[in-house]
Amino acid sequence: MTDYVFPPPVTPSLAVMGSAARFPIRRVWCVGRNYLAHVRELGNDTREPPFFFSKQPDMVVPEGGVVRYPSLTENFQYEVELVVALKAGGENIPEDETDGLIFGHAVGLDLTRRDLQKAAQEKGKPWEIGKSFEQAAPIGPVTPASAALRHAAIRLWVDDAIRQDSDIDRMVWNVPEILARLSQQVRLAPGDLIFTGTPQGVGPLKPGNRVRAEIAGLEPVAITIA
Ligand code: MN
Repeated sequence: MTDYVFPPPVTPSLAVMGSAARFPIRRVWCVGRNYLAHVRELGNDTREPPFFFSKQPDMVVPEGGVVRYPSLTENFQYEVELVVALKAGGENIPEDETDGLIFGHAVGLDLTRRDLQKAAQEKGKPWEIGKSFEQAAPIGPVTPASAALRHAAIRLWVDDAIRQDSDIDRMVWNVPEILARLSQQVRLAPGDLIFTGTPQGVGPLKPGNRVRAEIAGLEPVAITIA
């Protein structure tokens, strides 16, 4: 047994529907600009190929709950997204073989410090500060699946008012295309989570807001901003 200088960090994990065992998280990737109407609402080029950024596994808020309003921002925003959870991996995986990687799906929130993201973007700097911070990734329980979800209503409410309302079939790059492309960039492995982009309707949050996000067929996730 390896001896460590202090106890190793606990592995972050997600609940799994129909199982007492949890899904252990290895990496968290996110796709930028993957629904046309959202690309347009942020004033970006609509013909861009998919690109990826990451959040740290310990920034996941498993099954939602209380999320503290983050530091440094005055424009903290919600983004509801389909999250794909992997049970297998590899490199350079063809699109028609990506279903074999999928353990299941969950509903996630790609929480964003939009003002910091935009300021970084305008200076040609990395997005890290806008996307990667404490509690930046609430995710609901994983629902096992044998193939990628291709059609499902995706919706988000803030204090009972609907703010995002679309279908995952409106993704610019679908799940097999995303997994194939990401597997060219890095090696995928069991425990990886991939946020697949948000539809239009993103907006700001303030302390006290209650957020509920749903994708048809999956367990919802809810947070309260403190
Ligand atoms: Mn996003």
